[in-house]
Amino acid sequence: MKQGTIIKVVGPLVVASGMSDAKMYEVVKVSDLKLLGEIIELKGDTASIQVYEDTAGIGPGEPVFQTGNVLSIELGPGLLETMYDGIQRPLKVIEEKSGSIFITRGIEVPGLDRERKWDFRPTVKVGESVIGGDIIGTVQETTLIEHKVMVPADISGKIKAINAGSKTVTEIVAIVDTPEGEKEVMMMQRWPIRVPRPIIGKRIPSEPLLTGGRSIDTFFPLVKGAAACIPGPFGSGKTVTQQGVAKYCDAQVIVYVGCGERGNEMTEVLQDFPKLKDPNTGEPLMKRTVMIANTSNMPVAAREASVYVGITIGEYYRDMGYHVAMMADSTSRWAEAMREISGRLEEMPGEEGYPAYLGSRTAQFYERAGSVDCLGSSERTGSLTVIGAVSPAGGDLSEPVSQNTLRVTKAFWGLDSKLSYKRHFPAINWLTSYSLYIDNLIDWWKENVAEDFPEQRSDAMNLLQEEAKLEEIVRLVGLEALSDREKLIMFVSKMIREDFLYQNAFDPEDAYMTSKQSYNILKSIMLVWYRGIEKIEGNAEFDYQSLKKLDIYEAISRCKSIKVDELEKFTELHLKIEQAISHL
Ligand code: ADP
Repeated sequence: MKQGTIIKVVGPLVVASGMSDAKMYEVVKVSDLKLLGEIIELKGDTASIQVYEDTAGIGPGEPVFQTGNVLSIELGPGLLETMYDGIQRPLKVIEEKSGSIFITRGIEVPGLDRERKWDFRPTVKVGESVIGGDIIGTVQETTLIEHKVMVPADISGKIKAINAGSKTVTEIVAIVDTPEGEKEVMMMQRWPIRVPRPIIGKRIPSEPLLTGGRSIDTFFPLVKGAAACIPGPFGSGKTVTQQGVAKYCDAQVIVYVGCGERGNEMTEVLQDFPKLKDPNTGEPLMKRTVMIANTSNMPVAAREASVYVGITIGEYYRDMGYHVAMMADSTSRWAEAMREISGRLEEMPGEEGYPAYLGSRTAQFYERAGSVDCLGSSERTGSLTVIGAVSPAGGDLSEPVSQNTLRVTKAFWGLDSKLSYKRHFPAINWLTSYSLYIDNLIDWWKENVAEDFPEQRSDAMNLLQEEAKLEEIVRLVGLEALSDREKLIMFVSKMIREDFLYQNAFDPEDAYMTSKQSYNILKSIMLVWYRGIEKIEGNAEFDYQSLKKLDIYEAISRCKSIKVDELEKFTELHLKIEQAISHL
């Protein structure tokens, strides 16, 4: 093995000489402890190395071993249900080896279990032609997910042999005759984490990623393949929201990357997540989840790697034709890692000390989200949705990480601590949040929910915006100064907030709503607006108070509990509202 010599150690950065034939991004093993590192700068024969493990006690004169490889991860059956650290070491195996997940230096453990056997069921026959990305067989990875074994991207040819049965991830399952000779295919592939996995092309997303949240699915929706940003000041409900999305969203596979700042933050997630149940099957959510957790004792550099490990795993399941949702919490920690390393490299700092390439790195990362035509000869689509949390200090979104994230994501759920103090949950501020996916979804809504859904949705949003303006006037001169039209706006908006937007994540009946339920609840409220404003504008003598005295509001506030298979109850309620107002 080629080796260089350490000349300097500054925190997670190690500088070594004698590295003239090393390559950028090559993986190296630092010192006799074999700490994992990656070359991030080369000048002559001197390499700057970002080290993913604690460098305490390492000093000049010690060796650096080159590996010739770039930082890659292992992809294959066994990813689901596993909790990894930032460099794809299974936490459980580390714990067994070292007695604690907190003492991890130099431990080499493979990402995928080498002993475990999987029942490989071929889907191709000898003689068939295959190209990179084609599925050659399946494995029941968990009770919830069937793993599709794909031909690696760089192999194409004719199947010469295919081996069904019980196999480990490194046993040969197929031999492909290629123009360059015979190639052996095993279930495990490797992929460099900084390189997006190849696809045929991106599609224009046209299907929602439904989360069951009324506020999100109606006002700030995601598509399958979206890139979204969720800033989460402490206590605003970031974790509850993310876990709710992970649990209820209609993606098949979930990748959760946690870069906690304080140790206990991550420990909580590690303890809580495995307890979550998949609502459709009652099985543990982990059966369709891969978790990557940076325990806080790991150096910042590992946080930098962890988001790429997560997104590469996400792409891998997308390539099988699944809808994947990845949550990264929080990407601010990732950006801080970049800042720290850049500082140590003595690069020219940009805004607030972040490197000048923060914007391009952020963009490249979110670019990997999307709805795609998967690689391979048969038509197959998949999607990868990325929801990145940011945690701006003091909730100030003008800082560089938030700004750069907002530039490249198309949906924004602004969690607001003012709302969470008032116990309005989810604390998604309806005035600052947005989704740029509305146009993608209009057709879907009209076809699958109701023809007038898009219109009702934007009318309701307008009312909330008008309410915010009127609140100012009410504060100054009181409610009585408002016209009847304005009073009705205030009245209906209050219902939208309290009976529609407010959703209790801890009430199993309320936590998840189908789009049809959400539409019908909102319709009950909006009928009061539509019919009420007709009365007010059609008759100068109309007594506004008589509208408020109707006995329909109790039923409106309770209609959340109407089940998805009792939609006719909504029709009855809507008729009752129409009739009550028309008789005034
Ligand atoms: P953060 O992760 O932003 O610090 P959490 O997600 O832990 O905040 O939320 C803080 C608290 O707010 C929770 O413990 C819970 O009591 C409450 N909360 C947040 N979201 C909801 C919700 N959708 N429904 C009910 N309570 C909520």
